[in-house]
Amino acid sequence: MAVRKPGVIALFDVDGTLTAPRKAATPEMLGFIRELRKAVTVGIVGGSDLSKITEQLGRTVIDDYDYVFSENGLVAHKDRTLIGTQSLKTFLGEEKLKEFINFTLHYIADLDIPIKRGTFIEFRSGMLNVSPIGRNCSQEERDEFERFDKIQNIRPKMVSILREKFAHFNLTFSIGGQISFDVFPQGWDKTYCLRYLEKFQEIHFFGDKTYKGGNDHEIYESERTVGHTVTSPEDTIKQCKALFLSP
Ligand SMILES: [Mg+2]
Repeated sequence: MAVRKPGVIALFDVDGTLTAPRKAATPEMLGFIRELRKAVTVGIVGGSDLSKITEQLGRTVIDDYDYVFSENGLVAHKDRTLIGTQSLKTFLGEEKLKEFINFTLHYIADLDIPIKRGTFIEFRSGMLNVSPIGRNCSQEERDEFERFDKIQNIRPKMVSILREKFAHFNLTFSIGGQISFDVFPQGWDKTYCLRYLEKFQEIHFFGDKTYKGGNDHEIYESERTVGHTVTSPEDTIKQCKALFLSP
């Protein structure tokens, strides 16, 4: 077996990069990753928690990659071993957290939108996911809200108010997907995981949302990485083959 290239890591976003949006990885992709691991160290960095990443990449995800960074690296695994965790609760403390949640729930309660469902704030270990319609809505209701939001700017308006009100908390607000936005401390984007990769001289990052405002933008732009924009999982395979597997 060929020796893996030292000091080089291929690091992948999950959704839209290794899998179609919100879908599971294809057998072709899983086979490709196995091949790639023979040539270079391979890691993944996803915004979701480990259980959601497992749904997309399979039960053996922890075994299939050298580094698994869930929640942007707030939960970090290397060679199947947990090497670090950070949480919003630890970082902000209960008082600040409560102040933010109370204000946000009041704001949503006063918001006049066509329909509301349940789970308006999902508390994750490294972020709050805020949804004006509520995460328990159906796919149809999701699509409807997205159309409504594009016209009424519900999320952008809400974000600008929260950003001003809680400026002293040093939070980042990121509008993504159809119905929600994420709230997390500044610097807790995908660049967070880079602290675990200091020994690598060459970090190739592949992501589908590398444009400004996209959740891959900061790590794509980081001077620590060589950034690659992909358009689909098929494109990811194509670019990686050219870069790592061609003679
Ligand atoms: Mg993505």
